[in-house]
Amino acid sequence: KTKIDLEDFLKTILPDQKLLKFLSLARDISKKRREFLYFAGGVVRDYLLKRLYKKRIPKPKDLDLVLQGNLKSFLKELLEKVKGQILFESQFLTYKVKINLNGKEFLIDFITARKEIYEDIAKLPKVFASHFEDDILRRDFTINALIIGLSPPYEGVLIDLVEGEEDLKKGLIKPLYLNSFVDDPTRIFRGIRYKIRFGFNFSEDFFLALKKCFEKSALKKLSGTRLANELKLYLTKEPEKNLKNLLMTTYELNLFEEAELKINKKNFNSLISLLKELKGEISEREKEKIFLFGLVDSRFLESLYRLGFPDSEIKELIKYKKLIEENLSNWEKLSLWEKIKIFEKIPSIYLLTLGIYFPKIKKDLIKFFKEYRKVKPELTGEELIKLGVKEGKEIGALLELIRKEKIEGKIKNEEDEKNLVIQFLLNKSKN
Ligand code: ATP
Repeated sequence: KTKIDLEDFLKTILPDQKLLKFLSLARDISKKRREFLYFAGGVVRDYLLKRLYKKRIPKPKDLDLVLQGNLKSFLKELLEKVKGQILFESQFLTYKVKINLNGKEFLIDFITARKEIYEDIAKLPKVFASHFEDDILRRDFTINALIIGLSPPYEGVLIDLVEGEEDLKKGLIKPLYLNSFVDDPTRIFRGIRYKIRFGFNFSEDFFLALKKCFEKSALKKLSGTRLANELKLYLTKEPEKNLKNLLMTTYELNLFEEAELKINKKNFNSLISLLKELKGEISEREKEKIFLFGLVDSRFLESLYRLGFPDSEIKELIKYKKLIEENLSNWEKLSLWEKIKIFEKIPSIYLLTLGIYFPKIKKDLIKFFKEYRKVKPELTGEELIKLGVKEGKEIGALLELIRKEKIEGKIKNEEDEKNLVIQFLLNKSKN
């Protein structure tokens, strides 16, 4: 236990100084109730990292405030004094709280100090409110198991029961106990993220814990949704430039195979470059889907069941993959318009995934996605009617012709479009 400068700590970690007053209120209440309040996890780790390496660390996105005590009743008392509400209460004794300070809203996670009991391999634990020591020992890695007290008996004290600070200095990712990954294999993926993010190494214990995890087939038993969620965090939690390292480390540790997920390492580069190209073109959710689809080996798309994708989506992907395969040997001979007509049959998520599987179509596909699919006639159906085109099928066919000629670069502006229509009508009257 070492003393720390609480003022400096709070100033460093709080995303907004308005939170200082809120925090001091929370501390007063915890003092009055004689319940120990502390910060744990990422905020403490990052603060110490900053002190050790003088590196600039981004302000934390979430603040994990932990209370050893009755959190519900604590929050009730707190929310009588501050404008706010509990947004969400989880089965794990955690609360997401929204507070309003002078018109500005903040989301804060409150967590009950707790003990976890794992009854089944790779299944979620039973949790019980408990002592802060249990709350430290349930954590994933030593570097995440440090806490800083905000109220007595450990106000302004850094508590380190597992030599976490030493491991921060050594740059080691070390689990707290050897069965750690049997209980919760998602910790392995978390460990990979920290290794790559901080440029740390895995400790010897990490590999011993991994061995135990494999022996007990714990990764096979991890649910598809939880496995998919961890992989998605590679995209959302880490800088883009780290993606290749994250995937390679996962591959080298043999995790994909252990988790019974058939992936294709050859896709990594293609996947990464495609995701980069798509920036701003698709939503985060679509991006996550393409990422997971794109990882798997295209010869074994059924393996997407492992990640919890519904039958309907997997069948769709298989169907569209066939469509591309049928045209693949002939691809170079197809005209641009023929290629576009094929692409237009395929919804964008599947289409982009197929661009990862089939490098041959990737260039055309990216061009289609960024450019051709956005090409539209300037003229509307109504304007065509005014020019003398008959209502009905002819309108659609003409609009399509305009689009084709525009994409092929034969016509450029509205004037050209009108001329095309007039030419069409003239030819028709001649016949
Ligand atoms: P990040 O910077 O990645 O958000 P974090 O440490 O804040 O890091 P969270 O996912 O917010 O990460 O988790 C908060 C803390 O909860 C962790 O530091 C760790 O102590 C603990 N924790 C989270 N997930 C697990 C897990 N699966 N097993 C054990 N402890 C965990």
